[in-house]
Amino acid sequence: MSIIQLTKRQEEISRIVQENQPITGEKIADLLHVTRAALRSDLVVLTMLGLLDAKPKVGYFYIGLENQRNEYYHFKDMRVSDIMGIPLTSHQGESVYEVIVKIFMEDAGCAFILDDDGFLCGVVSRKDLLKASIGGGDLSKIPIGMIMTRVPNIATVLESDVVFEATEKLVQRQVDSLPVIRLAENGKARVVGKFSKTIITKLFLELKE
Ligand code: ADP
Repeated sequence: MSIIQLTKRQEEISRIVQENQPITGEKIADLLHVTRAALRSDLVVLTMLGLLDAKPKVGYFYIGLENQRNEYYHFKDMRVSDIMGIPLTSHQGESVYEVIVKIFMEDAGCAFILDDDGFLCGVVSRKDLLKASIGGGDLSKIPIGMIMTRVPNIATVLESDVVFEATEKLVQRQVDSLPVIRLAENGKARVVGKFSKTIITKLFLELKE
């Protein structure tokens, strides 16, 4: 699937390059009976899209739609809902100890914490748990709600968010994962997924394949 809409002129240029490659800009202009200047912006668009490759002093080559840049365009369209993972959630009243066990059992990097009504109220990362552990208290008596990072200081994403923008948020906020939320009418959030650096890393590898 391609989202690229070429103009008639751009399609014509692609065809000419495909049939005559390598071909100089001047030659293309000759074949189309236009000036070199008139072609410039179309050639820029086509090389930026990855349809053509320009080699200095040689000319233009045809790369085509099946090339790797096309996958980049597919990636560009991806939404959080396409790749989000299953979130690990805990109730705010659960103990730090219980959450540590859960994180081990489920091989998760963090837990999203829910209030009595099941709405998102916080996040705990592994470092939060380590910090609590070296604090010296009885971990089975400390509620996770006491050590979590709380709403409204939680960075979240929506299922409909573009993967690129969600990734930007991960990087800017310097966290490993973001809860994917659905907003309820009361302004609170239900957690429906997880968007993490691990998920992005896996996607990156998939693109290579
Ligand atoms: P760690 O540093 O433990 O490897 P993170 O970088 O994800 O993991 O977490 C750093 C800090 O940011 C922790 O205190 C954690 O509670 C908090 N945190 C984690 N995820 C979020 C988030 N989505 N929004 C706001 N704060 C977060």
